[in-house]
Amino acid sequence: MNHDITRASAAELADALGRKEISAVEVTQAHLDRIAAVDGAVHSYLHVDAHGALEAAREVDDRRAAGDDELHVMAGVPIAVKDVMTTKGLPTTCGSRILEGWIPPYDATLVTKLRAAGMPILGKTNMDEFAMGSSTEHSAYGPSRNPWDLDRIPGGSGGGSSSVIASFQAPLAIGTDTGGSIRQPAAVTGTVGTKPTYGGVSRYGLVALASSLDQAGPCARTVLDTALLHAVIGGYDPRDSTSIHAPVPQVVRAAQRADVSGMRIGVVKQLTGEGYQAGVQQRFDEAVALLVDAGAQVVEVDCPNFQYALAAYYLILPSEASSNLAKFDAMRYGLRVGPDGIPDPSAEQVMAASRDAGFGDEVKRRIILGTYALSSGYYDAYYGQAQKVRRLIAQDFDRAFAQADVLVSPTAPTTAFRVGEKLDDVMAMYLNDVATIPANLAGIPGMSVPSGLAPEDGLPTGLQILAPAMADDRLYAVGAALERALHAKWGGPLLANAPELPTAATKEA
Ligand code: GLN
Repeated sequence: MNHDITRASAAELADALGRKEISAVEVTQAHLDRIAAVDGAVHSYLHVDAHGALEAAREVDDRRAAGDDELHVMAGVPIAVKDVMTTKGLPTTCGSRILEGWIPPYDATLVTKLRAAGMPILGKTNMDEFAMGSSTEHSAYGPSRNPWDLDRIPGGSGGGSSSVIASFQAPLAIGTDTGGSIRQPAAVTGTVGTKPTYGGVSRYGLVALASSLDQAGPCARTVLDTALLHAVIGGYDPRDSTSIHAPVPQVVRAAQRADVSGMRIGVVKQLTGEGYQAGVQQRFDEAVALLVDAGAQVVEVDCPNFQYALAAYYLILPSEASSNLAKFDAMRYGLRVGPDGIPDPSAEQVMAASRDAGFGDEVKRRIILGTYALSSGYYDAYYGQAQKVRRLIAQDFDRAFAQADVLVSPTAPTTAFRVGEKLDDVMAMYLNDVATIPANLAGIPGMSVPSGLAPEDGLPTGLQILAPAMADDRLYAVGAALERALHAKWGGPLLANAPELPTAATKEA
């Protein structure tokens, strides 16, 4: 194993723990030390739970010492969880003021699974408020930074979960992806992230943004680590009515085999070329050539309705969000403020004042848009039309998957932009997800894997892989084959090239 614990992969940690070469407490403590050293600069975490994580680690060590053979292979490997998943006894803010101080009384199903596997939870990661955004700049608690360049964004909404692994403050993280919030952050930080098939990982305890699009999934530094985490969190959950009643696809085996021989890889015509940064496109083309060298065949596929995906998404998402966020009414939980200058306010006045104080601009923008789109007389013109476009996009995918086993594209159109650069340009911010949104609309799985550094700015680029519903294993076969070829070309992982971060100690000096 890599001697620096925080640089080791989750698979290496799991092996070393299983062989009793290191203890879970040592592994957890090494990450807590790293957090203390660098998170002041990166700001991946909203809450760190040193006590809880060490306690969970100690329990694993005790069980291992007692010869407990029921221990999960991942026992003792720590993890960070996006602050949109409920965690019993640990704050859950969704990056919003309206939930500041809220401590959920229950665990999300995937958190229950992490705990059952003996994986210590290091803390909760930063995010755009209620997962609306592509940069974490919409977090009420300030943005996270990209470890490759601290003046740049780590993607969003799950920029806390991407930056936490890219800065070695956790080997694994949980993200959620409604329109790209696992994949785009992975792309711009040189990490791996998967949005599983819709229904493949339970949404119970995932604070809803848009229920028909939301999907939690794994974030890691390698394809195998991503698969190992996917296997822990996946599977049927009777508490989620849209959960799929089927075994988790064989993602770990696919990642280990890394075999693409004979596979048909479809390049989506509509998701390349114009609008994509030259270096992103170049690294994508080179990656596709490597897959051909590894035995795959390439075909071009046409998905003409993808041009309407962004527009349809920005009707469906705000519509569902306006309904989901109605529960933050200052009566049941969260922030409550009295309106200024009104001595005996009505419940409605308290709700209005609390929502005004508790929600940020982007959240308000989408609630207003969604409420408008759903109002009577407009429903058919907007929401109804968007749902028809959604069907057309699913049909485009069906046709494409008749010609190809997986589809590929660049994950995001550009590399990481500067903090502040797109904050006032709503359309520019929304366009970051132009390539990732179709998968959410159709419910199919998608992954982003590093494809290199763009020659013009030296920043990470990502390649997106898409597969038919419940064929998540194909993502891992292709992702692992590409990773293997690229590591051979680079002489190791991409993140080995990331700059050293300033530490708390160097800053004091
Ligand atoms: N950036 C997209 C949005 O703002 C995606 C968000 C997400 O996947 N949670 O809606």
